[in-house]
Amino acid sequence: MSADSGFKELDLALSRTKLDRAADLRLDKNALDEMWLRAEIAQISGDRFRILTDEDGRKISLEFLNATQIKEENGERYFLGIAASGKPYFLWHTPFNESAKPTFGTFKGLRDIGAFLNDLEIGIAAHGLALSQWHDAHPMCAKCGAKTESVQGGSVRECVVDRKQHHPRTDPAIIVLVKDSQDRVLLGHQKIWPTNRFSTLAGFVEPGESFERCVRREVFEEAGVNVISMSYLGSQPWPFPASIMIAFDALIDNPEAAKGDGVEIEEVRWFSRASMKAAVAAAQIILPPTISVARAMINHWYGPDAAKDLIGGEAWRN
Ligand SMILES: [Zn+2]
Repeated sequence: MSADSGFKELDLALSRTKLDRAADLRLDKNALDEMWLRAEIAQISGDRFRILTDEDGRKISLEFLNATQIKEENGERYFLGIAASGKPYFLWHTPFNESAKPTFGTFKGLRDIGAFLNDLEIGIAAHGLALSQWHDAHPMCAKCGAKTESVQGGSVRECVVDRKQHHPRTDPAIIVLVKDSQDRVLLGHQKIWPTNRFSTLAGFVEPGESFERCVRREVFEEAGVNVISMSYLGSQPWPFPASIMIAFDALIDNPEAAKGDGVEIEEVRWFSRASMKAAVAAAQIILPPTISVARAMINHWYGPDAAKDLIGGEAWRN
C-alpha cells in the first residue's frame, strides 16, 4: 500500500478541519488585534463550548460571537486560523465554575456535540479544547514557579519573571486493531469500562519509544500476542485532554495465546465478522462510539455493512 492509502480510507471524525492555522501571524501583535475585530469567535468556558441548538436538540452548531459581544473580562483569546473565505477565527476561553460561568448562552462539551458539528467546527473544537485545557493546566512556570501568561496568539505561555516559553504538549498514544491470519479481530474489555464494552487495544507511547515499538509492546503486554507486521491507518486528535491517537492494524502469529493481562485488560475475544454481527445483535457486546478511532478501524475492517450491522455503543472511551 502507498504511504497514505490507509489514511484516506479511515474516516476520522475529529481529524476534519477547514482552517489554515496561519502560524506566522501569531508573532504579529498588530495583525492579531486587527483580526480580532473582524473575527468569528468561538467560546469555551472550562471545557464546554458555546452552542446553538434547535428546540429538540437535534441540530447543534457552535455559536460564533464578534468582538463587541465579548463581555467577560477574565478570559484569554487564542488565534485558531483563517478560513478559505479570509475570515479569521479565534477562541475566547473563560473559566467555568459557579461564580464565573457565563450569564447567557448554552454550553456543552465536545463529547456531546462532536457528532453534530461540520468540518470547520470540528477543527475549531478539537484545536480549541486541547489548547484551552493546556492553558488551564499551566498557569505557573515549570522552571521557577512564577506565573505564566498567554503570548503569540495563545500558542505559547511565557513566564512573567524569566521569560521562559512553554509550549502546548500533545501526548501520543497508539491504537491498534489486532488481526490473525483468518482475518478475525481481537477486542479487549477494560475493567473500568461499562459491562460488555469491547474495543481495540491502545496505550501511550513512552519516552524514547517509536510508534512501531509501542504497538508491539502494548499488544504483547495487554493481550499476550506477537505482532509480526503492521500498517499505519491514520491519526486523530483526541483532546481529552491532550492525546493524539496513531492508528495501526497489526497481524499476530499466535492467536491461541491471546489473554487479557488481568490488570488493564480483563478479557479479550476474537471476532469474525459473523460473530461480531451476532454479538452486537444480541447485545452481548457494546462497541465504541462512531467518533472514535477504534470504531472507525472496526467499521473499516468489517466493511460497507458496518453502519447497518453494528448498531449501538455510544459510550465514550476515555
Ligand atoms: Zn519562570
